[in-house]
Amino acid sequence: MKILRRSVVLLVCTAVCMLFTNAAFADYDIKVQINGVADTGNSIIDFGEYAPVQINSRTYVHTRTFAQSAGMKVGWDQENQTAFIKVIADKNSDKPIEVYAAQQFEALGDNGFGTPSSITVSMMLDNSEAVFRYNYDIGEGHIRGLGKTFEMDGAATLIDDKALMVPLRNLMEILGLQVEWSQEDMTAYISVPYDVRIGDNLEETDRWVPERYYAAFTPPGYIPDGVHEIGEYLGNFKLTKYCPCNICNGGWGDNTAWAGKIIPGQTVGVNLKDGIPKLAWLYIDGIGWRRAEDTGGGIGYHHIDVAVSSHYEATHGNILYRDVWLAK
Ligand SMILES: [Zn+2]
Repeated sequence: MKILRRSVVLLVCTAVCMLFTNAAFADYDIKVQINGVADTGNSIIDFGEYAPVQINSRTYVHTRTFAQSAGMKVGWDQENQTAFIKVIADKNSDKPIEVYAAQQFEALGDNGFGTPSSITVSMMLDNSEAVFRYNYDIGEGHIRGLGKTFEMDGAATLIDDKALMVPLRNLMEILGLQVEWSQEDMTAYISVPYDVRIGDNLEETDRWVPERYYAAFTPPGYIPDGVHEIGEYLGNFKLTKYCPCNICNGGWGDNTAWAGKIIPGQTVGVNLKDGIPKLAWLYIDGIGWRRAEDTGGGIGYHHIDVAVSSHYEATHGNILYRDVWLAK
């Protein structure tokens, strides 16, 4: 009797689980093989605990595992909730992918942008846009970019709150890599094409679409300690950006006026004449909670200076105008 009951339970579970996985992630044991990308050999990527999945009939792969297996660098920008994949351009590299990147810059010709440096693809969580860039080094750590924005078939998606999954075919198209799918083997074969493919309609572009500079979004629903709700409406403010460097912050370096070090993603500079108390939490529409920890001579009425993490971010992108509230 006990055995019977257990098998019934198991059956129910199997049925429910299958229903669930088919609705969301149908896992077909998809494999990805890279041929002559990270090195001259062929290998099937070991995705470990984050195997490729199908979402809406598209194959998604774990960004970090894929990128590292293919000889690319990968980074995660927590502040902007954005992953980037980077391919170094180096025609003397022993990684075919890096030689291919260098060949793409050669094919672009001498456009006076600067010294070819790398190719990046940035993908923001829960967003289907991917920003592709050819990055040129223009000295003193500054980068000038030529690129475009791609619309992927689906948004970059988190699994287990930590593994960022992106549509494989879109990522390959963006990087100019070749992908062939074998239904029989359930395998995607990735390779560097013989012909050098460069994007068309490229424009000088920031690493992010401008609004994302501020993106520094506090996660949806996040409420800082001691803040419970949005209070008084302060008005529509002009937003500019600064970083903790001496250029942006004068002799103050990375220090704020009232709260120790600048914290990108938290610190903003305000004008006390706007009636914002020192150290008050503010809610900025589309950006989230920020704390009035700093001030400066260049901050006028109805103007907030938002701290970001790099000088590049601080000096690129548009000025925004946003509604601002005081926290209760
Ligand atoms: Zn700066």
